[in-house]
Amino acid sequence: MTEVVYIGLGSNLDAPLKQLQRAVTELGELPKTRLTTLSCWYRSAPMGPQDQPDYYNGVAQLQTELPPLDLLRQLQAIEQQHQRIRGRHWGPRTLDLDILLYGDQFIDLPDLLQIPHPGLYQRNFVLLPLADIAPALEFPDGSQLAMRLENCPSEGIVRLSSGDLCGTTG
Ligand code: AMP
Repeated sequence: MTEVVYIGLGSNLDAPLKQLQRAVTELGELPKTRLTTLSCWYRSAPMGPQDQPDYYNGVAQLQTELPPLDLLRQLQAIEQQHQRIRGRHWGPRTLDLDILLYGDQFIDLPDLLQIPHPGLYQRNFVLLPLADIAPALEFPDGSQLAMRLENCPSEGIVRLSSGDLCGTTG
C-alpha cells in the first residue's frame, strides 16, 4: 500500500544547502519510494543553544510503500552518510531527517517513532514549507494546516527565493 509521507529536512553545518540538496537526491533514490514534491528552503535562527549557525529547513513529500520503521531506518542511514554526529540536544547537525506525517496514521513508539512528529505544530520551519506544497493539508487529528499556522509564531524565518532551490519535482 502506498502512503503519502512528509519528511522534514534540516541542516546547519558544512554547507547546509548542499547537504539538503544531496539529501533530496538520496530521498529520491530510496527503495519503493517516489519523491513527489519539494518545498522552498527556509533559513531561521537556531532553537535552543544560540551559539551555533542558522538552520536551513524544508519539507519533501514522498509516496512510499516502506512501512514506517523501515522508512525511519532508511532516513537514519542517509543521516549517517552525511556524517551526522549526535551531540547535545538541539545542537548543530549536518543533516536531520524527521518523519512528520505518515498518511493519516498516529504512531507512538516511545523513544523510537512518534508520528505526527512531536513539535510539528509549534515549528514555523516545518509548517511554512508544508504550506508551500500542501496548503489545504488536514492533519490526522482533523486540524487544518492554515489554522495551525495562524497559531504559530512566524518571526525569525526567511524563505529563500532562489528559483532552483525552491521547487517541485515530478
Ligand atoms: P533527532 O535528534 O531529532 O534526530 O531525534 C532522533 C531520534 O528521534 C531517533 O532516535 C528516532 O528514533 C526518534 N524519533 C521519534 N519520532 C521520530 C520521527 N517522527 N522521525 C524521526 N525520528 C523520530
